[in-house]
Amino acid sequence: MPVQKIIDIFGQKEVTLSFEFFPPKENSQLTSFYQVVEDLVRLNPDFISVTYGAGGSTREKTMEVSTELQNRFNIPTVHHITCVGHSKQELIDILDLMKVNEIVNVLALRGDPPRGVKKWEPEPNGFEYAYQLCDLISKSYGDSFSCGVAGFPEGHPEALDKDTDAKYLKNKIDHGGEFIITQLFYDNKDYFEYVSRLRNIGVKNRIIPGILPVFNFKNLKNFCAFCGASIPRRLHDIFGPLENDLEATVERGVELATEQCRELLEGGAPGLHFYTLNKLNPIKEIVHNLEDYLL
Ligand SMILES: Cc1cc2nc3c(=O)[nH]c(=O)nc-3n(C[C@H](O)[C@H](O)[C@H](O)COP(=O)(O)OP(=O)(O)OC[C@H]3O[C@@H](n4cnc5c(N)ncnc54)[C@H](O)[C@@H]3O)c2cc1C
Repeated sequence: MPVQKIIDIFGQKEVTLSFEFFPPKENSQLTSFYQVVEDLVRLNPDFISVTYGAGGSTREKTMEVSTELQNRFNIPTVHHITCVGHSKQELIDILDLMKVNEIVNVLALRGDPPRGVKKWEPEPNGFEYAYQLCDLISKSYGDSFSCGVAGFPEGHPEALDKDTDAKYLKNKIDHGGEFIITQLFYDNKDYFEYVSRLRNIGVKNRIIPGILPVFNFKNLKNFCAFCGASIPRRLHDIFGPLENDLEATVERGVELATEQCRELLEGGAPGLHFYTLNKLNPIKEIVHNLEDYLL
């Protein structure tokens, strides 16, 4: 049976569940990684996604791991691609290989400058913005791929302001983006306002909230400083005193993520996309807590 496109899954389900993974750096970690995915796939996600070069992970592995996961678990797998360090021809080569491997879902991203480099610069003969990658995918590949894009409820950190950022988001949709997965956020108000902002300028596509439960507060603060997401005072008050107690952090993290997800779904969010960080138990617990909403 052909692999389902995300856009077709949306036609059948009002609320989707999905998990994001990053490919392990070392081959020796693959067996335990596949075991984690297998256990999470038992929760019946509608699709999974595999990051590309994020946090320094190797990029070739995204193709290998996406293909293996899709074949092994028979689940639609979204291959992330960024424009970082690639010419247009190299991006075409990756998309061609995706087709050969029957990967039909892609998240088209610009990517971030490599660590230590402040200002984003495109490659010579490469793309400056994600919308150009959406354009390549839709114009050169017809309906071979279902193409998603990244959205930023608090505005992308480099954007002039939230309205300008929303306008550029719409531009990605106008160039072939079909669904939006958001950056992590901890104040649901940011998500609901973002949805209204996009609806007001004519974006009708699904906007799936990206959820990162708190697993490790110190790491989270570093990551949020890097990606421009804010951490509400309440989280500092809860997790600050637990900083050296990872077990208690995860326990509270599960409770808070459950609360956040319930509110999102009750407010009409069309699904949940979990940044799993390849962790099993906390994600399993949260999804079990949400069973009534996700069945
Ligand atoms: C769900 C999700 C998954 C991600 N996965 C990965 C991953 O796998 N690997 C990875 O390296 N990174 C990943 N990222 C991070 C992402 O690559 C960065 O956040 C990057 O800085 C922005 O990418 P983008 O695709 O949104 O860029 P763009 O949409 O190109 O936007 C980048 C900036 O340019 C502005 N802009 C857009 N179009 C124009 C225009 N025409 N003129 C002027 N300004 C414009 C935007 O407002 C924004 O400030 C992910 C992010 C999200 C939310």
